[in-house]
Amino acid sequence: MATRTMMLRALTKRRRFTTLPPFSQSSSSPLTSVSRFVSTLVLAEHEGGSIKAPSVSAVVAAKSLSEDNSISVLLAGSGSSLQEAATHAASCHPSISQVLVADSDRFSYPLAEPWAKLVHLVQQKGGFSHIIAASGSFGKNILPRAAALLDVSPITDVTEISGSHQFVRPIYAGNALCSVRYTGANPCLLTIRSTSFPVPSMPADSKSNVAPISQVDLSAFGEDTICKSRYLKHTSQDSERPDLGNARVVVTGGRGLKNAENFKMMEKLAEKLGAAVGATRAAVDAGFVPNDLQVGQTGKIVAPELYMAFGVSGAIQHLAGMRDSKVIVAVNKDADAPIFQVADYGLVGDLFEVVPELLEKLPEKK
Ligand SMILES: Cc1cc2nc3c(=O)[nH]c(=O)nc-3n(C[C@H](O)[C@H](O)[C@H](O)COP(=O)(O)OP(=O)(O)OC[C@H]3O[C@@H](n4cnc5c(N)ncnc54)[C@H](O)[C@@H]3O)c2cc1C
Repeated sequence: MATRTMMLRALTKRRRFTTLPPFSQSSSSPLTSVSRFVSTLVLAEHEGGSIKAPSVSAVVAAKSLSEDNSISVLLAGSGSSLQEAATHAASCHPSISQVLVADSDRFSYPLAEPWAKLVHLVQQKGGFSHIIAASGSFGKNILPRAAALLDVSPITDVTEISGSHQFVRPIYAGNALCSVRYTGANPCLLTIRSTSFPVPSMPADSKSNVAPISQVDLSAFGEDTICKSRYLKHTSQDSERPDLGNARVVVTGGRGLKNAENFKMMEKLAEKLGAAVGATRAAVDAGFVPNDLQVGQTGKIVAPELYMAFGVSGAIQHLAGMRDSKVIVAVNKDADAPIFQVADYGLVGDLFEVVPELLEKLPEKK
């Protein structure tokens, strides 16, 4: 322990500069696609009879497009859990104007092909100006296909909404932020980073605003159910730990953990802190943990209040997934590791000494 040194850095976490890409127009240009009336379709994911938190963030994002936005939430699936999720959606945010429910065996699993076709069908009837989904695997799977069917260009990973057609999104693995103005035809399709649109706690009386629920008429959907993808199975880990995407605290391990057995230290630490466990791609590729724990450009994007990284070098692809965390703590034996450039608190030391000491000193979670 004596050889460890403590570093405290107050660094700018990201260079921020604004660019207008070639397909943008200056703000003074007339915009053919801007309609005065904003109406948004939010594609919502549900599980166990509730709509998932990132989909509620998509509603929050929709609200920031325009104060007068009329927001419809689209749910698809089959059976009683769909109806429960519709009831939950109807009262989960006071800005929701209506909940549209597509109840069919075709949507029992969220496969991209039938979902994209459904979005196309609902858009033909509803004429929405915007369609939004959260930027998780659900939205990233469906939205580009729906955009192709609608012959428009989607804007992905939006982190800020500056107007009904002007958005900010990260580029170069999050090293720069780009302002984009959408000049295409309606609808404008977006995926949003749910961590950038937190859901404020709702006052109790707002829950009494219950939006009407309508069934989507699927008679025009057709019988064509040939998909290039096929549902095989759903695997999930039974864990009492919070979901990685929404956790307040994340404990991440990298290749420095050396093997799956050692990685269990991260799980013990997460248990004590009530945290979610994350991993770098190197740790996932080495088989220490499954890939749904991967944080980064090709993994999950997280922005917890506290992010603790052990044996993580801080490659830009990893930083892309966690640099918006409020407080970043890094433990690495290499004082020159790039993770220290984004860390608020850095400890140069051997994680095999630091983590057992932390485990010993932290009280058990109540
Ligand atoms: C297209 C593309 C996409 C990618 N997407 C992602 C992504 O989404 N997420 C991601 O994480 N990576 C991603 N990567 C990989 C990324 O470039 C890095 O290879 C990866 O993040 C490195 O993981 P690491 O920090 O665990 O491993 P390393 O870079 O090997 O770092 C291990 C660190 O552990 C430290 N260490 C070793 N032993 C100890 C010890 N005993 N105590 C303390 N510290 C110790 C070392 O000093 C070192 O800094 C992507 C790469 C590409 C090309």
